[in-house]
Amino acid sequence: MGLAEELVALVGADRVLVEPVDLYLYGTDASIDRGPVKNVVFPESTEEVAEIVKIANRYQVPVVPRGAGTGLSGGAIPIGSSLVVSLTRMNGIEDVDPINMTARVGPGVINLDLSKHTKALGVHYAPDPSSQSICTIGGNIANNSGGPHCLAEGTTVEHILELEMVTADGQVIVLGGQAPDPVGLDLRGVVVGSEGTMGIVTSAIVKLTPNPLATRTVLATFNTVEDAASAVSAIIARGIVPAALELMDKLMTVAVERFVGAGFDTEATATLLAEVTGHDSAVDAELEIVREVCELHDAKAVRVAVDEAERARLWLGRKSAFGAVAQMAPDYYLHDTVVPRTKLAEVMAKVYEIADRYDITMMNVFHAGDGNLHPLMAFDSTEPGMLDRVHAAAKELVEVCVAAGGALSGEHGVGIEKRDLMPLVFNEYDLDAQARLREAFDPDGLFNPGKTLPEGSRCFDFGRPVPEGVWV
Ligand SMILES: Cc1cc2nc3c(=O)[nH]c(=O)nc-3n(C[C@H](O)[C@H](O)[C@H](O)COP(=O)(O)OP(=O)(O)OC[C@H]3O[C@@H](n4cnc5c(N)ncnc54)[C@H](O)[C@@H]3O)c2cc1C
Repeated sequence: MGLAEELVALVGADRVLVEPVDLYLYGTDASIDRGPVKNVVFPESTEEVAEIVKIANRYQVPVVPRGAGTGLSGGAIPIGSSLVVSLTRMNGIEDVDPINMTARVGPGVINLDLSKHTKALGVHYAPDPSSQSICTIGGNIANNSGGPHCLAEGTTVEHILELEMVTADGQVIVLGGQAPDPVGLDLRGVVVGSEGTMGIVTSAIVKLTPNPLATRTVLATFNTVEDAASAVSAIIARGIVPAALELMDKLMTVAVERFVGAGFDTEATATLLAEVTGHDSAVDAELEIVREVCELHDAKAVRVAVDEAERARLWLGRKSAFGAVAQMAPDYYLHDTVVPRTKLAEVMAKVYEIADRYDITMMNVFHAGDGNLHPLMAFDSTEPGMLDRVHAAAKELVEVCVAAGGALSGEHGVGIEKRDLMPLVFNEYDLDAQARLREAFDPDGLFNPGKTLPEGSRCFDFGRPVPEGVWV
């Protein structure tokens, strides 16, 4: 028997893909790369995942865990012919506990489905990537995903209490625990954000968050992106952390309006969507601070969404931004970097300067409160030389953000996209430490090889002296 036959014997022919046309669909994600797929398998239980890993081990075939394939850094794209393990069928929601505010979820649960499931109990799952209606909790865990409302609530890592995971030798382990501060090393924290390189997450106990008693959504428009960005830092400097502070520039606002007609002002150079949540009285006080700071930063207009319907429409607009770009150009490349909030205005000016120099349409929509930029280049890849310009501009964008004291990725992960840029922020010893940690979980590099760490990340690969006392 070969790999496919063994998989079929385990889960049945209807849960194994072998035809090239089917496999082609699993060779990419929402980024711009593609890789070769040997087979795709759809397990329905932890036991099946463990057996699949043992089979892959026997055939020495790399394993790529996969959720919904909405990743933007190539994390779910195989490098070298690989077995893709799609976790979408492991989508059970169990043990919802509104008192302790926890639930046990399968990795294939769609992010938004969890909050819909718990709505009547007055709680929700806080991390809300704009892709939340399609992406999975397993993918969110692997990428430590964020979202507009992670400013106050924190990203995925703050909301995962316990993880069940299948290791490279097919064992099932449990990391973390329901207690606030479980004893031992925080391996749960290590695995969150490890992009499928340390094991396959098969179940998680997540934290649920109470639904806010009151919510106000403020829409402020500005004549310059710099004014809007400065207002964002100034709001937080006033001692409040709104639930969300999201910024869109004019080109993006125009695209969103054409796409969903959310009611944004398409004449404004920058639009700030701010949300404050909490008790009624506190919310009104915070709302006034947001209004005052925006006016002090020369806002063109500041208004509050009149009702829940308008609020929902504005958020639909914001969360549809990437989809809206399809009307502007056939292709886009979305970047994800972080800068200190206070550097936003300065860095945004450089982002537009790069766009001008490379003659590329640059649109911006981002989690401004976190300093998490998403410069988006809209282009036609059939135009000669365009892809080279896009890649060159992308590299400069990252360099500008790193030079401003920023990070390579805020939420989309490193994947393939930023792997070779890791040395911009980590020296060889930093990379070596990360490579060793990964090897401790996966000594043969079975899971998602070629992702996150550049080739030669072990110290001895660099031909450099190994730090004293370090085991090789
Ligand atoms: C329109 C759009 C908007 C987006 N907005 C946001 C946003 O606001 N914030 C944000 O953070 N991201 C955003 N993203 C990116 C993306 O949706 C997230 O990274 C998401 O978490 C990926 O989930 P997924 O289920 O699609 O995972 P996939 O793309 O399938 O996989 C992502 C990574 O997770 C690994 N993985 C998946 N499941 C498991 C598992 N069970 N165990 C171990 N590893 C696993 C994969 O190997 C891969 O490395 C957006 C994407 C799109 C297309």
